[in-house]
This record gives sequence, C-alpha cells and structure tokens, in this order.
Amino acid sequence: MVDFAVPEEVQLICRGLRSFLEREVKPLEERYKRYLEDERARLDEEGRLVPEFKAALDRVRRRSAELGYYAMHMPTEVGGGGVSRVGMVYAFKEVFRHGFGLNVAVLAGPEGPSPLLLGLKAPQREKFLKPLMRGEATTCFALTEPEAGSDLKNLQTRAEKRGSYYVLNGMKTFITNAADADFAQVFAVTDPKRYKEHGYEGVTAFVVERDAPGYKVGKINRSLLDDGAQAELIFENCKVPAEHVIGQEGRGFYAAMSWIGIGRLNIAAMCLGLGEYLLKRSVEYAQTRTAFGRPIGKHQHIRGMLAESAAELSAAEQLVLHAAWKFDRGDPIVKESAMAKWFCTQMLFRLADRAVQVHGGMGVMKELPFERIFRFARVLRIVEGTDEIQKETIAKSLGL
Ligand SMILES: Cc1cc2nc3c(=O)[nH]c(=O)nc-3n(C[C@H](O)[C@H](O)[C@H](O)COP(=O)(O)OP(=O)(O)OC[C@H]3O[C@@H](n4cnc5c(N)ncnc54)[C@H](O)[C@@H]3O)c2cc1C
Repeated sequence: MVDFAVPEEVQLICRGLRSFLEREVKPLEERYKRYLEDERARLDEEGRLVPEFKAALDRVRRRSAELGYYAMHMPTEVGGGGVSRVGMVYAFKEVFRHGFGLNVAVLAGPEGPSPLLLGLKAPQREKFLKPLMRGEATTCFALTEPEAGSDLKNLQTRAEKRGSYYVLNGMKTFITNAADADFAQVFAVTDPKRYKEHGYEGVTAFVVERDAPGYKVGKINRSLLDDGAQAELIFENCKVPAEHVIGQEGRGFYAAMSWIGIGRLNIAAMCLGLGEYLLKRSVEYAQTRTAFGRPIGKHQHIRGMLAESAAELSAAEQLVLHAAWKFDRGDPIVKESAMAKWFCTQMLFRLADRAVQVHGGMGVMKELPFERIFRFARVLRIVEGTDEIQKETIAKSLGL
C-alpha cells in the first residue's frame, strides 16, 4: 500500500536541512552574491572555476558531510545515513526549494559517493569511498564519449590487461567535475568481441586516479550554463592497477545503469524542489506587481499559467514518490525512473519558462535567478539520458 504520510525521520531530516540552509548556506550566498548572479565571474580564462568560488562550494559540501547530510543516501555499513529513496526525494526537494545557489553542493551528485563504488574490494573502498563520504575528495562518472552518448554500444575506450595492470586508451567528454576530480570512475571495453556481440557486456568500470600515468584532463566543455562543470578526460596508455576494477570485469555497463536509474530519480526530485521555488516566487510577484490597475495575478493569462504550474508540479511529485517507493520495496524501476525523469524535467522547463514570463523584463535579467534556472532546466532534458531516450525506455516497456 502506498502511504502518503511523510515518515517522521524524513520530516526530521528536512527540518535539519532547512535550518542548515537558513543558518549557514544563506549567509555564504550573500557573501558570494556576485558569483551567483553572473556565472562569468566564476570562471577563469580557460573556463575553470575560480579558486574562491570553488572554495565556497567545497565548504558547503564538507559542512553538509559533517552534519551527516551529504552521504546520507549511502548504506550505514560504510558510514552513510541509510536514508531510503523516498527519504532522498524529500531531501532533494527540501534542498532545491531553497533555490539555485550554493545549496547545489549540499547533497551528493556525480562528484560524490555513489553506490557504484560499493563494488570495490574493502581496501580500495576504504581508500576511495571514505574521503568522498567526508566531502574531502571528489570524483566523476566518466561514461560518455564523443561517439557514444545515447548510443552506449559504441564506446571506443579500451582497457587491456597486462599482468597486474590494465592499460587504458581513449577519451571521455562532457564529464561533470572532470577538471577537479581526485579520481574518475571510467567505463572501458575490456572484451571487444563480447561487446560487439552483446552490446552491453564486455565493459568494465575502473577507478582511475588523477595522478595515474597517462591520465589527462582535456578541454573544458563550455555549455549553456557556462559553469565550468564539464570537461574531457584523455587516457593515453594509462596504467590502472587490477584491484581498481569496480565490481565484476565485463559487467560494468549493468553497474552503470543501476546508478543511472538513481541519478534519474535524483534529477526528478531536484526538479520538484526547483519547481516549488519557481512557483512560490512567481505567485509572490503576481500578488505584488501591478499592471492596468491591479496585481498581475488578477489577470486571467497570468492566473492560468500559475494554476497550470501548480497542477503539473503536484502530478510530478506523485510520479517521483511512486518510483522511489517501488525502489525501496526492491522492485525494478527502469520504466518508472524514465517516466519520472522525462516528466519532471519537462515540467521544470515549462515552470521556468512561465516564471520568466510572469516576471516580464525582470525575468530575463541576471539579478534574478529565473533565466539561469530556465537554462539549467533546458540542460536537464539532455543529461542522464535525453527526453527521447527516456521515451524509448517507456515505449519498450509497452512492448513496442
Ligand atoms: C551538462 C552535461 C553534463 C553531463 N555530465 C555527464 C557525466 O557526468 N558523465 C557522463 O558520462 N556523461 C555526461 N554527460 C553526457 C550526456 O549523458 C550525453 O550528452 C547524453 O547522454 C546525450 O548524448 P549525446 O550528447 O552524445 O547526444 P546523441 O546521443 O548524439 O543524441 C543526439 C540527439 O539524437 C537523439 N537520439 C539518439 N538516439 C536516439 C534514439 N534511439 N531514438 C530517438 N532519438 C535518439 C537524442 O535524444 C538527441 O536528441 C553530460 C552532458 C551534459 C550536457
């Protein structure tokens, strides 16, 4: 039975997060306002984050880890909080209803601890996972290549076993946090014959340290957000110890997919929080801004837009919670996570567009966060599987 009551422990986490955001994150956002209002101020000439802004994000991440929030999605056996997926939906919502500032560093994303790393053997888990859990190190999830984005049957990166090492050759692109990561989780073909025959087998996941010989950060990918977050990774005869294999050799693709399912739910939950933030700010503006002698919220077109936003947001929430609830029961959520990711990113895109419209000229000004969230919402329809790939997954589940 689906239970709509928010569990008490989740309410406690949300209250704690709210207080952390108010007491500690908000004052920092005030201090770093100039970076938050204009992304260009955050970047150096090469497109990398300037040290001062990076330090602000690091500070929020570490403090969140100290308070037990950053790694709360990880199992208790490795020092995490063991929080359920339903709990994480509420946590993401709580963090992102705060807006789009330094709060982005409160909960772990691709730079943080992921269940994928539980596939490491005990000594490597200790070495790589522990500093991530404390927010002291960061990582990245390196799957996409110039010729393999949606089409993951076309990976070109190869890893060849030579004694106690693998030798990696290839290139990854658009990798979030690649420029700063202390180590990367890299997916490479180890059995080309099996990969060619079966598509998803013969791929292995590795931990590759930043200082490994032959590991190079390529160019920064300048995007619509221009936030210095994505970069290329290049491997040239890069030597990786055999004990750095994550999980089973040749099964890396399946491990990647299970993590991507969770990533899709996280994005969907983030959209709920940002959607709530946009709606609240838009309603406030519609109540106070006047045109033609009355608040704009009394004009039918504006009322209609905000009513649609409220209904779509509510529908999105039910979809995400249902998927998370199924996950917590141990059910497969391939279809549900695709539906949640597709619907919620579409929903956020529409809500952001309306928030811009309701704010008129101010909506596109950098002083307000709406144009930036609008750009972010556009990007979310591409990452962790495009709109079309989500719909492909849903269509397959219909037997098409
Ligand atoms: C901001 C950002 C952050 C990212 N972070 C990471 C990261 O941390 N790690 C990582 O590994 N990757 C990351 N990526 C890469 C991302 O996962 C890919 O960009 C995405 O999967 C799409 O792949 P592509 O860019 O190669 O587009 P393509 O696969 O070339 O797609 C081009 C178009 O064709 C459509 N298309 C493709 N196949 C089909 C099909 N079968 N049916 C219908 N339409 C189809 C797509 O939907 C799209 O519209 C990131 C990308 C961005 C933009």
